[in-house]
Amino acid sequence: MTVPSTSELRASIDGPVLLSGEDGFAEEVAAFNLAVSYEPQIVIGATNAADVQTAVRFAAAAGRSVAVLNTGSGPARDVTGDAVLITTRRMSGMTIDADRRTARVQVGVRWGQVVAAAAESGLVPLAGSSPEVGVVGYTLGGGSSVLLGRKHGYNTDHVHSIDVVTADGEFRHVTRESGGLFFTKAPDELRSSGAVPARTRPAVRPGVHARQPDRVRPAVLPTITNDPTQPGASVEHFALLDDLTPEALDAILAEAGPDSAGRLTLVDISQLDGAFANPPAVPNAVGRRDAGYALFALTVLPPDVRGVDQNLNRADADPSVVRRVYDDATYRRLQAIKAEYDPANTFRWNHNIPPA
Ligand SMILES: Cc1cc2nc3c(=O)[nH]c(=O)nc-3n(C[C@H](O)[C@H](O)[C@H](O)COP(=O)(O)OP(=O)(O)OC[C@H]3O[C@@H](n4cnc5c(N)ncnc54)[C@H](O)[C@@H]3O)c2cc1C
Repeated sequence: MTVPSTSELRASIDGPVLLSGEDGFAEEVAAFNLAVSYEPQIVIGATNAADVQTAVRFAAAAGRSVAVLNTGSGPARDVTGDAVLITTRRMSGMTIDADRRTARVQVGVRWGQVVAAAAESGLVPLAGSSPEVGVVGYTLGGGSSVLLGRKHGYNTDHVHSIDVVTADGEFRHVTRESGGLFFTKAPDELRSSGAVPARTRPAVRPGVHARQPDRVRPAVLPTITNDPTQPGASVEHFALLDDLTPEALDAILAEAGPDSAGRLTLVDISQLDGAFANPPAVPNAVGRRDAGYALFALTVLPPDVRGVDQNLNRADADPSVVRRVYDDATYRRLQAIKAEYDPANTFRWNHNIPPA
């Protein structure tokens, strides 16, 4: 396969194609989390599905990996070297079908957009606590709504269909009903197996209420926890706990308590259980449904910090730690799908599951 030159690439892509150091490059790779470095040799700003396909095919022809950046709220690791970085923020179209209680979102849509639009119909999506987080990135990680999740489960469990560009550059439309790539074997292993949902087709059904209780006004949903809306530098740590034993609490206090010398700024422990424990109607990539609690810890860094701080290593992106998030059956299934659809591990700048 011939590798297109940069000028050929520019001619075949509607969005910007920028090389490291060129005007506009720094703005294109800007992320919400300032502690993460995006330093690829090339970044491609996708404006439609065809751009995504062209970018992925270019990477495949050149033997390069592909990284994806939407908001930069949840990067797993720094993106460097010969990676082809695709940015998706320009693809921000969305429609709400109030009768079906579904949303169709393009890949750059953030939760704040969906919450505001759904509120006009008295609906509430299974959004997280921040309006700035991307719907797709959130859903690829399961997506747990602090307010509604224990009643309705993970947002991933409510996805009806998804449009995907796989590592071979093919565009695929997969639905729960028709089955296929993700829904017969695993509907949403995309976090690791690659794939950039595109166009206006991706349909996320964010488990919505027909009528909203008076106590919660839909439009204020993302403001309740007062999450930060401006970029900042931080390192995050996630863990699932079977139980909150006295030993676990002692360990947490040793790291984050008043007498600790640790650097943690914030510890958040959420009870799971409820609908989080229910198996989904169609199997998906959320493992460990038996976990009792989700632990989230965050260390705020000075604003000028860039790149990985070795002392605060983002350990949860290490493959051995990623392995622990899944039960055996789910992990094996995802490994097999990865081997089938992304054998070269093209999409590896993530919480990676290497091919079997
Ligand atoms: C302030 C704040 C509050 C949060 N609250 C919650 C919450 O309440 N509940 C919850 O479940 N999570 C929450 N999160 C976590 C959030 O859901 C994840 O960080 C999520 O991955 C962010 O997705 P993004 O697209 O916005 O970020 P990005 O950093 O752009 O993407 C995150 C990851 O997903 C990958 N990715 C994104 N889009 C695609 C795509 N189209 N194709 C393939 N890979 C893609 C990226 O490569 C990256 O590895 C919160 C995060 C923040 C910063």
